[in-house]
Amino acid sequence: MAAYMNMDTLRFLLTQVHNISDLFQYSRFKDYDEETILTFLDAIKDFSDKELFPYFREMDEKPAYFKNNSIIAHPQLKKVMRQSGEMGVIGATFDAEYGGLQMPEIASQAVYFIMSSANNHCVGYPALTGGAADLILTFGSEKLKELYATKMLSGEWGGTMCLTEPQAGSSLSDLTTAATSTDEGFYQIKGQKIFISGGDHEYCDNFVHLLLARIDGAPAGTKGISLFVVPKKRITDTGELEDNDVLTAGDFQKLGQRGYCTTHLVFGESGNCHGWLVGEANQGLKYMFQMMNGARISVGRDAVSVSSAAYHASLQYANERPQGRRLSNDGSKNPNANPVLIKEHPDVRRMLLLQKAIYEGSLSLTLQTALYHDLSRVALAEEKEKYHLLLELLTPIAKTYPSEKGREAVDNGVQILGGYGYCSDFVLQQHLRDIRIMAIYEGTTGIQSLDLLGRKVMLKNGKALELLVAEIMQTIGKAQAHDELKPYSKQLGTTLQEAKGIIDFLVPFAMKGQYERFLSDATIFMEYMGTLIIAWQWLKIAIAAKEASLNNKDTYTSKFYESKIHTMRFFYKYELPRITGLAATIKHPEVLTLLDGEEKEW
Ligand SMILES: Cc1cc2nc3c(=O)[nH]c(=O)nc-3n(C[C@H](O)[C@H](O)[C@H](O)COP(=O)(O)OP(=O)(O)OC[C@H]3O[C@@H](n4cnc5c(N)ncnc54)[C@H](O)[C@@H]3O)c2cc1C
Repeated sequence: MAAYMNMDTLRFLLTQVHNISDLFQYSRFKDYDEETILTFLDAIKDFSDKELFPYFREMDEKPAYFKNNSIIAHPQLKKVMRQSGEMGVIGATFDAEYGGLQMPEIASQAVYFIMSSANNHCVGYPALTGGAADLILTFGSEKLKELYATKMLSGEWGGTMCLTEPQAGSSLSDLTTAATSTDEGFYQIKGQKIFISGGDHEYCDNFVHLLLARIDGAPAGTKGISLFVVPKKRITDTGELEDNDVLTAGDFQKLGQRGYCTTHLVFGESGNCHGWLVGEANQGLKYMFQMMNGARISVGRDAVSVSSAAYHASLQYANERPQGRRLSNDGSKNPNANPVLIKEHPDVRRMLLLQKAIYEGSLSLTLQTALYHDLSRVALAEEKEKYHLLLELLTPIAKTYPSEKGREAVDNGVQILGGYGYCSDFVLQQHLRDIRIMAIYEGTTGIQSLDLLGRKVMLKNGKALELLVAEIMQTIGKAQAHDELKPYSKQLGTTLQEAKGIIDFLVPFAMKGQYERFLSDATIFMEYMGTLIIAWQWLKIAIAAKEASLNNKDTYTSKFYESKIHTMRFFYKYELPRITGLAATIKHPEVLTLLDGEEKEW
């Protein structure tokens, strides 16, 4: 079978770079040790090899489609949902009292990384179901928990997040789906939701939509949004399932992720759609952010997964395709010699290294963010706040860098295959189509960038940023202990200073109330910060590799550790210096994108 990910790299990142074992001292995770987690991951790899990877191409070639008011999805989905439930994947991080495994988030991200690398069309179904169940368990009434959570955790019922409406995408404050109070403990829901992932298919017996709506008379804007549980089939007093007036009106046909259905749902067309309020009225967006933040990290992780699969596919091709001859020292080629494998050409090696640097660096960032999530949950007092702020700050970057740069990585994978990369006989074109959505859903890159610069950088008067700088400085300090790593540690320190200069340049615009000017290049700032953060991750990886090889840790071969350090050096030579150009763009005196006065001619 073709490789789609590297278990050694994943294990190394978990155990030696992010030291997952430090988490087991906390009572929440006391039943775990490294071996248990790694054994679980092996089982997931086996499941992915057998039940996910073999269906990856087929799900693209035979996409989900709409027929007779329902969605026809790939039949393998039934097994994926049920087995994800049985193995504990859906409820991996949930409390044991609710039937969860109480596993750290970092381990759950590793699980989904394996599954998604094998087949990114499948994982959204169990992952969104878990996210929806988590919202019910965190904010819902005892009755809602009792009625819905168990069936969702088992994979018998699917879960969704229903936010987007035709006129309200990025701007959720404009949503109009209405909720009218009744005397019977439920609300009447009326409205339409579009682009709802995993919203309907025949392999789950019911769907539990976590839906944002506006209660009649609620304030305008985001302050008037409430969260509801709206099942496709509601549960009667006698425990039967009855139709809840949720109509499936269509399935969007897409560029990629074609096995993952994207539905158009109409609620309450016959005036008979019941919804149950979750938590307090008008607090819906705040609650939904719990699911959205988790989903943002997961979208970033899915982008890493696609990049991983694309890297391994193009590496295999480069190892098999003979073409051309190497240049001798006098610049000539010997036409009588056999062609060499394309992997021997420096330009192909550059493209392979670029893919590896982006995908492994991004994977490390996903795990880093998940680790902060775990620590924000289990640490005490000040420490808890520290990790919470770090999580908040890194979330938009963990979503965006893998989605944007992952696309570039996959594009280089296509290039390695030459003409075959463009043809449907080979898988690379599918990876390129699949990864495109990651920069769009769960908040576009533009929206994530506004969040990073407009909110997160300023969070708690810049405290989150200060904490992040302290974390990076700690890594820089550690790298100083190794002569081989000193130049890179210095380079990262210089970049950090440059970043400070950018922020010092931008913040006065906000202080003067010039917010559009302040945020006009937020996406360029995001690219800058994303690259800086991945450089930090690579230095961490290199330190772990260096220390492991010095301590004669024979978990992996010396070649494995050398390859990590080599890839770090690649990132510092080819990627990190590029962002100095971005700094110049951000600080450039000309302002060319603001709508100032009359619209110009395009
Ligand atoms: C395949 C797929 C699956 C999806 N799954 C779900 C789901 O499960 N649940 C759900 O609720 N939604 C889902 N969505 C919706 C998705 O989250 C939205 O498409 C996304 O948030 C963008 O909204 P929009 O498409 O309306 O684009 P718009 O909001 O119209 O944005 C268009 C462009 O304008 C930019 N823009 C908009 N506002 C601003 C601003 N204030 N400042 C700067 N730039 C701005 C955006 O960055 C973008 O480039 C899905 C979408 C797709 C395509």
